Amino acid sequence: MYRSHTCGELRQSNLNKTVTIAGWVQKSRDKGFMIWVDLRDRYGITQLIFDEERTSSELMAKARNLGREFVIQVTGTVIERTSKNPNMPTGDIEILVSELKVLNSSLVPPFTIEDKTDGGDDLRMKYRYLDIRRNPVRNNLVFRHKVSMAVRNYLSKKGFVEVETPYLIKSTPEGARDFVVPSRMNEGQFYALPQSPQTFKQLLMIGGMDKYFQIVKCFRDEDLRADRQPEFTQIDCEMAFVEQDDILNAFEGLTHHLIKEINGVDVGEFPRMTFDEAMKKYGNDKPDIRFGMEFGELNEVAQNKDFNVFNTAELVVGIAVPGGNSYSRKDIDKLIDWIRRPQVGALGMVYVRCNDDGTFKSSVDKFYDQEDLANWAKVTGAAKGDLICVLSGDKDKVRTQLSALRMELAERLGLRDPKVFAPLWVLDFPLLEWDEESERYHAMHHPFTSPKKDQIELLKTNPGDVKANAYDLVLNGNEIGGGSIRIHDRETQAMMFDYLGFTPEEAQAQFGFLMDAFQYGAPPHGGIAFGLDRLVAILGGQETIRDFIAFPKNNSGRDVMIDAPATIDETQLNELHLKLDL
Ligand code: ASP
Repeated sequence: MYRSHTCGELRQSNLNKTVTIAGWVQKSRDKGFMIWVDLRDRYGITQLIFDEERTSSELMAKARNLGREFVIQVTGTVIERTSKNPNMPTGDIEILVSELKVLNSSLVPPFTIEDKTDGGDDLRMKYRYLDIRRNPVRNNLVFRHKVSMAVRNYLSKKGFVEVETPYLIKSTPEGARDFVVPSRMNEGQFYALPQSPQTFKQLLMIGGMDKYFQIVKCFRDEDLRADRQPEFTQIDCEMAFVEQDDILNAFEGLTHHLIKEINGVDVGEFPRMTFDEAMKKYGNDKPDIRFGMEFGELNEVAQNKDFNVFNTAELVVGIAVPGGNSYSRKDIDKLIDWIRRPQVGALGMVYVRCNDDGTFKSSVDKFYDQEDLANWAKVTGAAKGDLICVLSGDKDKVRTQLSALRMELAERLGLRDPKVFAPLWVLDFPLLEWDEESERYHAMHHPFTSPKKDQIELLKTNPGDVKANAYDLVLNGNEIGGGSIRIHDRETQAMMFDYLGFTPEEAQAQFGFLMDAFQYGAPPHGGIAFGLDRLVAILGGQETIRDFIAFPKNNSGRDVMIDAPATIDETQLNELHLKLDL
């Protein structure tokens, strides 16, 4: 028996008991005649005491040789501390050690294993197993487990069945780049790792599974943006015999339950907003609605005066910054510099100070009088003491820029409170999206998404205007889930591939298995997938998903601990029929 108790368990009620505990040496303090050691395991820390009067000199010497992170097992008596530590659950007691066994020694760890560590990111990633010994990292992993279990229990209770789908599948050109795996037994052929189990879950519906879910790894070989992982986890779900509302209700139920169970917050019914409305009000298809600062479109009240910049713009749009009139000229100049950075890319910004006496002072006073500016305030909802920030230009660009400004200002104003949860559904996404580079339409969600019933005709004339039965679940400005009602007949699916620029032969070669399956009684179906890593991070009140992944990759897609990816040797290459030409 290695231990009778854990290091987080013992209390006053255990006084005078003989116990055995095991763990890692967090630190020791040697006062000469007395030595204290903090012993740590997953459950907590217990203080050990060795003292000259009650401990043999042999044991004193042994204790003195303990280094940080040594793994030890001790037996001793639980005694009351003379100076108690109210900040520790075990702070009333300590263990007077009678036996000490070193189970393993340790090199001096490269960083301190404490809540606040001196280790930088790279070092902590290289020694991730040591990082996991720290409370914040371990707690995050335990938290992730809690969320996963809540998901599994909830969906299982609702009749969903978890089915595993394969990881070695076929590469398709749609979507992001695939990770591929060469096949040894099939010369010149490759598997791909799934970007999502999309086609398989649809096939499960055709197979009559009715309600499917899977907590599943997905792989996308994308250029890594900040806080993206090449492998990530989805809660992948699909249901048969459903319309959009059925899916929204089912997964609103799940999300509502998670926020209640994990955070103790009842978020009520989720608002639903169309994609067009989200773009108009927030310039963003994943709006953070924890705070207002909604867009006010100013074309009507700002154009046709003498200010040419606005007259020639497709869109003039502004937001009211609460309390922003307190910004100094210098503050505002800095803000203008901020939006001019290449990452945001605005050319400039017009601003209006809303004074406490009801008057206005703007950067374009030459062109607009008080009445004009009062109209701007009305449209943007600005109150006395606010600052109105106005951008203009190409509609899509200017919305993106103002959205970036809105988020930045909200962050600075402390309006993005991680303890507040504001979920919403964004509906009616466009079916297709024009890709400048390839000069063709791409499926905005994926090619299996069904267009709105009454809009199929529009596909022929205005494909860009067609809306899809596609929806996103947004939480605090993050897309945490997305899905759609699927096409479930061969003809529509074939037509869709045609619009996406596939020849019938290409469509058949790549997705023939699915289109064939549609011919054998495919039920109407739809689904959704949640990004588990991000969901867990948001529920945990944090921004970085990496902190909730046990062994994450760095920004170059590397695992610096095991040093992957890596070269493979000649024999392996030959077996795989691969020749490198570097
Ligand atoms: N497979 C989709 C995705 O990974 C989600 C879905 O449509 O269910 O985004």
